[in-house]
Amino acid sequence: MHTTVEHALEATALDGAFAASDDTGPLAAGDHYTVPGFDSVAHLAAASLGVAMVALVLDSGSAYWYSRDAGPRAPHVLHPLYLEAARRGAGQVLPDIAADARYRDTPPLTGPSPTTLRFFACEPVFTLSGRHVGALCVMDHAPRSGLDEAGLAALRNAARLAGAGVVLGSYLGRTDPVTQLPHRSAFFEDLRSRHKNGAQRAWLIAIEVAPVERFNAFVRAMGFPYADELMRAVAARVLDWMPPRTNLYQVGVTRFAAVLPDGDKPLETTQLDALVARLRTPFDCLDIPLTLQPGIGLLDLDVRQLDGADPLRQVMSASYAAQRNPRGWALYERSQDERHQQEFFLVTELAAALTERTELYLHYQPRVRLSDGRCIAMEALARWRHPTLGEVPPGQFVPLAERAGLMRSLTGWVLDHGVAQLAAWRRAGCDVGLSLNISNADFDADLVTRLQDVATRYGVDPGTLELEFTETTLMAHNDATRRHLAAVRELGAGIAIDDFGTGYSNLASLRQMPATCLKIDQSFVRAMDASRHDAAIVRSTAALAHDLGFRVVVEGVETRRIYDAVRRMDCDEVQGYFVSRPLPAAAVPPWLERTAEWHQRDDEGGP
Ligand code: C2E
Ligand code: CA
Ligand code: CA
Repeated sequence: MHTTVEHALEATALDGAFAASDDTGPLAAGDHYTVPGFDSVAHLAAASLGVAMVALVLDSGSAYWYSRDAGPRAPHVLHPLYLEAARRGAGQVLPDIAADARYRDTPPLTGPSPTTLRFFACEPVFTLSGRHVGALCVMDHAPRSGLDEAGLAALRNAARLAGAGVVLGSYLGRTDPVTQLPHRSAFFEDLRSRHKNGAQRAWLIAIEVAPVERFNAFVRAMGFPYADELMRAVAARVLDWMPPRTNLYQVGVTRFAAVLPDGDKPLETTQLDALVARLRTPFDCLDIPLTLQPGIGLLDLDVRQLDGADPLRQVMSASYAAQRNPRGWALYERSQDERHQQEFFLVTELAAALTERTELYLHYQPRVRLSDGRCIAMEALARWRHPTLGEVPPGQFVPLAERAGLMRSLTGWVLDHGVAQLAAWRRAGCDVGLSLNISNADFDADLVTRLQDVATRYGVDPGTLELEFTETTLMAHNDATRRHLAAVRELGAGIAIDDFGTGYSNLASLRQMPATCLKIDQSFVRAMDASRHDAAIVRSTAALAHDLGFRVVVEGVETRRIYDAVRRMDCDEVQGYFVSRPLPAAAVPPWLERTAEWHQRDDEGGP
């Protein structure tokens, strides 16, 4: 019995990319993977119909071959006749292919056997639930007058059995039920057989269709039938692109992988660009257009060290990274992989810290009014002390929370704990306010409700609260944003534009936002000592912001010299290490007391 499997490159034009028969060959991986029972079905069909060859061709582009006489040789490009058979839902009998006008001018139908085939008949294959998946084809070297009733019945029965085999293949987890592509285990068989055949290295390719989050949202919105249809369409586009003699495997719901044929130089960069372009072209699936965000990863693998290695995970980490890369494809890099693993670890740890642990806490940094040296507000800054990693800096976990969709929980946590602390201070007689950092992800109608709820819960006047949004966050928004911000203002809370100067907005456009306060970014301030240019930027920004009606805060004041320089400018408040580093909650009341006394003694101002 001779069977092979091939995921064929589709011949797009009848006279186009068809490969000559001498360019065919047995597949390394093919011997390991078949549709269960295909051998027996094909053998039965060949015997009862007296034909030389049988093929099961699936509409995913996979084909399984049985040949009575020759060794298992599969064409690496499927003849259009097979492709049409796989796609049509009805049977067909071609007594003599050579005499048929449609195929007369296409290259001869050569199957696994090098001899030309003349007779062809096919019967559609359905799964038990009635879904059309392909066709069972029978071929012979000599033309015939046709098939009699008994022959047609035998072909129909064989097709029905083949359908049961396809279902069984999915059921056993060997093929994907949607695309009918072989699964992960077959991918590893492919790799191991490369090794057995003496290869030292292999190039792996992984294709990630869309970020998981996006795909899940998409399934929720459109339902599974649409998602299935989409994955079949994606598989068809990838198969269409695949290099000759290469199997495509489905290694996850939205992931494909393959072992590339040539160990040394498998692909040109233009080929990769072409695949990306193909997958970025919008899909018109059931008349609904959709654009994917594909990522393609490549890994140069030493197959001699396959044991214990995790090549599929590695190449998939490259494809994951490639989704965010403008080029859409990327080579595997160990350092990047380690970053992903670390990031994944941190995300799960942060999610746990947000719900069930006590690792998060807040520090508070004073904001001091220059006119009288009074501390008018504390800025809440999130801190995370992990039990084994120690302190994780906010510059690391805040962006991570943003990427992992944890930002709303983090802001919720900070709001809750910060406002509770403010309530406690105010009950103890400290007359301060609280400013809170709000991120892009928090920007919706819900924000006002959340703010109001927390203020009510702790009996705090919303007028003592101020929300800080970065300049970039504000610039990225629109009319809806303006409405949400107006609602925050109506509640009585203040709005500050944080890190001003790091984005590309101009003050006039920000004026349209109902902000009350502008914080000049510390990068300009810290360099003021050394650069007259930076000092001029701070001075003119402050003056202009003041004219436009903003209260002006200068961040990052680290030294007495800068503090004095800022005092001579048109500014309202300062914040920075010179005034105070961010403080633990317990240190705030004593600090407030000390500075109030200190200020009374020193009417020059400043701490
Ligand atoms: P930011 O909002 O601009 O906060 C000011 C940062 O500058 C804080 O860093 C503070 O410790 C630091 N800083 C204050 N004065 C000085 C100074 O004089 N010199 C220098 N070199 N640095 C100074 P931190 O706490 O590491 O926070 C970094 C950033 O992380 C914050 O920048 C903010 O964007 C973000 N972040 C922190 N906590 C939260 C939070 O609860 N929610 C959100 N959305 N973001 C947060
Ligand atoms: Ca801030
Ligand atoms: Ca800032």
